[in-house]
Amino acid sequence: MSMVDTLGRPVRDLRISVTDRCNFRCVYCMPKEVFGRDYQFLERRELLSFEEIDRLARAFIRLGVEKIRLTGGEPLVRRDLARLVAMLAEVDGLDLTLTTNGSLLPQHAQALRDAGLNRVTVSLDSLDDEVFCAMNDVDFPVARVLQGIDAAAAAGLAPVKVNMVVKRGVNESSILPMARHFHGSGHILRFIEYMDVGHTNGWRLDDVVPATEILSAIAAELPLEPADANYHGEVAKRWRYRDGGGEIGIISSVTQPFCGSCTRARLSAEGRLYTCLFAVRGHDLRAVVRSGSSDEELDGAISAIWRGRSDRYSELRTAETAARPKVEMSYIGG
Ligand code: SAM
Ligand code: SF4
Ligand code: SF4
Repeated sequence: MSMVDTLGRPVRDLRISVTDRCNFRCVYCMPKEVFGRDYQFLERRELLSFEEIDRLARAFIRLGVEKIRLTGGEPLVRRDLARLVAMLAEVDGLDLTLTTNGSLLPQHAQALRDAGLNRVTVSLDSLDDEVFCAMNDVDFPVARVLQGIDAAAAAGLAPVKVNMVVKRGVNESSILPMARHFHGSGHILRFIEYMDVGHTNGWRLDDVVPATEILSAIAAELPLEPADANYHGEVAKRWRYRDGGGEIGIISSVTQPFCGSCTRARLSAEGRLYTCLFAVRGHDLRAVVRSGSSDEELDGAISAIWRGRSDRYSELRTAETAARPKVEMSYIGG
């Protein structure tokens, strides 16, 4: 079934959060002051089961989704995730990927690959332990994330993408060392402008290092040229090293928004559908699934939500919208 929203955008890409929990407390995502001992995470019974996730994923695929990314919180803290991967990997032609902080990849990479996962994206914000530990806020060392990246590549989950969120005054000085490290490695480093997701990270526009600045810092030492997008609606703008050392990506959702080509749906761990990363509210699909609906009814419910979609938050962002309460990144998965 072909289905477009009010701005003519189809649904192509689904992010599924499998847990709202995480073993990190990144300052830009799950600040400790908020996500402390008393924070009420979802209870187990509130989470979608793997069977429910699989059923919902297949409904989205019938409606046009070609690509699924598992995320969280930290997806690898959800027990037996490879079983879910194996269920989803049965769908012919589906591009199935995962975003992780990399901490648990050494023990899980091979099983995930064997279950049918195609690739992984690993988040790493600096090569400097002092900077990285201050950002993940649980003293997790860089070397162990690098081991996770190696384990993923060795298992065939390649090319590995590496996500670096850049925050002004915190890890700007890590931009060039990261570029040098991953230049020629076969991994694709992607810089992400720090975003005003959620309402707990105290985001200010001044904290954002614009894509143009990131690019010129790298290009001054390692010359770059633009590369074509892999597909329509690709979020990262691609740049290729002129010396053949591979490519980087820059995700400039703050300074150069791309809502016009946004074909992404997000499903929270408890089965709420969010049609925008900055949405205030989600639509309860768990209730639809648990009410014994037929596949036609499920498709109809999703389709009605998508057809009514008019989100373009990043194009409308102001200091005032940034201060509004919004869904948290750790809940919706980025
Ligand atoms: N825990 C996994 C991880 O860190 O890769 C998956 C979930 S995490 C929410 C997904 C991505 O969102 C990560 O690459 C993370 O760096 C990014 N992210 C989190 N908060 C962000 C923010 N405020 N601005 C930009 N990116 C952010
Ligand atoms: Fe956890 Fe990922 Fe958020 Fe960091 S960015 S706190 S690793 S969910
Ligand atoms: Fe898509 Fe919302 Fe981000 Fe715009 S702000 S690109 S509509 S998720």
